[in-house]
Amino acid sequence: MKSTKSAAPEEGANLKAALRYARLGWAVFPVHSVENGVCTCRSGANCRDAGKHPRTLHGVKDATKDEAKIGEWWMKWPDANVAVATGQASGIIVLDIDGPEGEESLRRLSEELGKLPPAPTAKTGRGRHLVFGCPGREVRNRIGAAPGIDVRADNGYVVAPPSKHANGAEYAWETPPKELLPPALPEQWAELLIGDGAIQRVHEIFSAPSAPSALSAPSALSTLSAFHAPDSPGGLGDGWPKGVEQAIAATVPAKEGERHRKVFELVRRLKVIPELADQPVRNLRPIVREWHRRGLSAMRTKDFEASWFDFTDGWGRVRVPGAGAVEDALERAKAGPLPAVALEYDNPKLRLLVGLCRELQLRAGDQPFFLSGDMGARVLGNGSDPSPTTVWRWLRGLDRDEVLDLVKKGDRQRANEYRYLGEM
Ligand SMILES: [Zn+2]
Repeated sequence: MKSTKSAAPEEGANLKAALRYARLGWAVFPVHSVENGVCTCRSGANCRDAGKHPRTLHGVKDATKDEAKIGEWWMKWPDANVAVATGQASGIIVLDIDGPEGEESLRRLSEELGKLPPAPTAKTGRGRHLVFGCPGREVRNRIGAAPGIDVRADNGYVVAPPSKHANGAEYAWETPPKELLPPALPEQWAELLIGDGAIQRVHEIFSAPSAPSALSAPSALSTLSAFHAPDSPGGLGDGWPKGVEQAIAATVPAKEGERHRKVFELVRRLKVIPELADQPVRNLRPIVREWHRRGLSAMRTKDFEASWFDFTDGWGRVRVPGAGAVEDALERAKAGPLPAVALEYDNPKLRLLVGLCRELQLRAGDQPFFLSGDMGARVLGNGSDPSPTTVWRWLRGLDRDEVLDLVKKGDRQRANEYRYLGEM
């Protein structure tokens, strides 16, 4: 199987590829494609999952190796991108290496654990997919198994060559699966990326250079040491949780008169980052410093202290997780197409809840996100319909349906922590 790089795509190339995958024992299904940089779904240019979300009603649950069914689908949608179900459906798991961050993680993990064996590898829009054999037991998807690395496994899927990516690139095999059978993921890697203690261990590795001592505690899940970094004029260090950079970038004032409002937006965005939520505010000073440095030219009030005191004021008032941030996430969920998995539920508010969870996961990056029944009920329907108890039951049900993974139970003060496992 050669990677297709011709400017005019070969007639029926996607169908041919889908059939080849089925013959390898991989279950496939059609997802939307990209034409002129725009998703083929109704949302078009507004689609935030362009070329990656299912054409069929049940998405990955429709995946099949049945050649007649595959023929039927691509007859109907000849340009549909090809998605391959991961996990036991196809006997493979895929490491999704996203951009330079993912490659850097891979390098660090290789130093720690030894090199990965050669595996079928596809170039994606921004990185690579490495295909490994499925270990013959249930393996859950892990978004952010390591920084920039997702594991696609049971109930997950990947978009495969020669599909088109939203950025114009074409998915293409560097090492096709026909030339190389997917090898087993070496034990140490499996332990780290898909094992039970995986999250803990990954954090240890990725926090180690900055804080060897703090991480000897068994509960050291966070990169706390990073919060004691001194103010650094040259930008933030590596130890900051994912999401901080995005929060800064999204809220730096661009013109005069915005500073005050944007400080509070920074507070709200940082509050939904789990490791930051309970930090004493003084530990966040370097973040505010960096934000201030970047926005300085657009600020009328130039004293750092003015922004800092606005920030500390806001930090004390915004409770975890910020209602404003959850409301924003809900608005985004309402605006975009809902994930296919949401459409498996009948109740429109439950569908929205699934969309909300995806948005919260996007904001939380590789960390779990917080959500309580109270907060869910508050944003979905002013707290009465659905009631907090109903939302809480829905969240439990979504965990059982493996749309969510309940990572950590909360209590009266603290919301539960979840990971969203559906397609992004
Ligand atoms: Zn779309």
